[in-house]
Amino acid sequence: MVTRKSRSEIERMRRAGRVVAEVLDLIEAELRPGVSTADLDALAEAHIRASGGTPSFMGYPGLNPHRPFPASVCISIDDEIVHGIPGRRTVRDGQIVSVDAGAILDGWHGDAARTFYVGQPPAEVAELIDVTREAMFAGIRAAVPGNHIEDISAAVEAVAAQAGLGVIRQFVGHGIGTAMHEEPQVPNYRTGRPGRKLEPGLCLAIEPMFTLGGYATRIGADDWTVMTADGSLAAHFEHSIAVTEDGPEILTVR
Ligand code: MG
Repeated sequence: MVTRKSRSEIERMRRAGRVVAEVLDLIEAELRPGVSTADLDALAEAHIRASGGTPSFMGYPGLNPHRPFPASVCISIDDEIVHGIPGRRTVRDGQIVSVDAGAILDGWHGDAARTFYVGQPPAEVAELIDVTREAMFAGIRAAVPGNHIEDISAAVEAVAAQAGLGVIRQFVGHGIGTAMHEEPQVPNYRTGRPGRKLEPGLCLAIEPMFTLGGYATRIGADDWTVMTADGSLAAHFEHSIAVTEDGPEILTVR
């Protein structure tokens, strides 16, 4: 079911969104060769809990009913697209590191992701990261009353097509509110259907996932980590936003 949020509900989502933005800033500041993904996760969890929140991803049900997500944030490296599980492995120079963070505050969710590069990226990788971020903002700009979901999808896809990047199709953006994943879905490619009309109060997570190769994916042995089937590098950016009379409002900012 699609719910439209009131002004005060959007303000509460903004508080959750601010914590998520702070978590991503903290991780970016600590991201360096030798740091373990578990250390980054611990930092995220500590900040979310100190802010009075709960990590959205912790315990989230997945493909395997016996393996809910065991950490606070998803950390996906190189050909991993999303849902990487933090652990003992350490970050190395020359890696692409995507971090997806979610927090629940007073029952309301914030969800955002950023992709970082450890060191100085080669031109092709810098472009992958920049274009994925740019596509997220193109999608956000299309999130205005009167448009439809398909307008967001088309805006995101056009940026990828221009740069010749692969667009992940299996995972999509989503409505967000008292649940992390609500209706409607927000694909990063045109479906040929207009989808829901955008109205003030609709809150969405817009999250392009692009690759230097194709869009086919595979799931790791941990039942969570989503990787490119062709081993190509991937990037992921996400903001939670509210559609308002005055245009899109990004909720996952400080
Ligand atoms: Mg999301």
